[in-house]
Amino acid sequence: MVTGVSRVDLNGIGMTSQRTRERLIQRLLDRGIDNQEVLDVIRMTPRHLFLDEAMAHRAYEDVALPIGFQQTLSQPYIVARMTELLLAGGTPERVLEIGTGSGYQTAILAQLVGEVYSVERIKPLQQKARQRMRQLKLRNVHMNHADGGMGWVERGPFDGILAAAAPERIPQGLLEQLAPGGRLVIPVGGDTQHLHVVDRTHEGFETTVVEAVHFVPLRPGTVR
Ligand code: SAH
Repeated sequence: MVTGVSRVDLNGIGMTSQRTRERLIQRLLDRGIDNQEVLDVIRMTPRHLFLDEAMAHRAYEDVALPIGFQQTLSQPYIVARMTELLLAGGTPERVLEIGTGSGYQTAILAQLVGEVYSVERIKPLQQKARQRMRQLKLRNVHMNHADGGMGWVERGPFDGILAAAAPERIPQGLLEQLAPGGRLVIPVGGDTQHLHVVDRTHEGFETTVVEAVHFVPLRPGTVR
């Protein structure tokens, strides 16, 4: 395990049935997720805390769910896949996340890497996510209310960047904030999107297209 990593403390948090959670883990295994650390962290993270009460009963289904403001909490499979891809490039110390949303992906990352820098353009979503980080005692998360399409210049460069919203083309600023040896995992496209993995080598950038995905679009500007 990586040092300095915080783990979610489940004591005192309303536990949903262990069997429901195990079913989700089995589903992720069936779909080809094989990073044991990622699976363990997903198993231990209470996804129902990232949803409004009306949606919480569906928290351990492998589906994306609405979180308001026309945004969604990502599907567990895609969270697992993107996290696994990010870590496969070597466990990053400093990670930039674009699109905090509910904070679920943020919480998963925070238990696996050194520091997470997460940018969200919709203020009320960020505020809720911040509360959840506090509730789960994840202290290595830093949040910024801004347009993440430009990254987070003051805090870069990053060993890893993960985007939860899709641009039509990868913003140049994100590539620039990737440290040499770093890896960017990002959905790219419009009506059809594909998950891209971009590695920054000393010679330049190497891109691999992984699979078709469906994300909300990366939008410019911020919402108060
Ligand atoms: N991983 C999150 C996904 C949320 S959906 C979760 O599981 O909850 C994607 C998020 O990206 C939304 O909250 C949306 O507001 C945000 N987003 C879209 N464009 C953005 C931008 N330019 N900068 C920062 N956040 C952005």
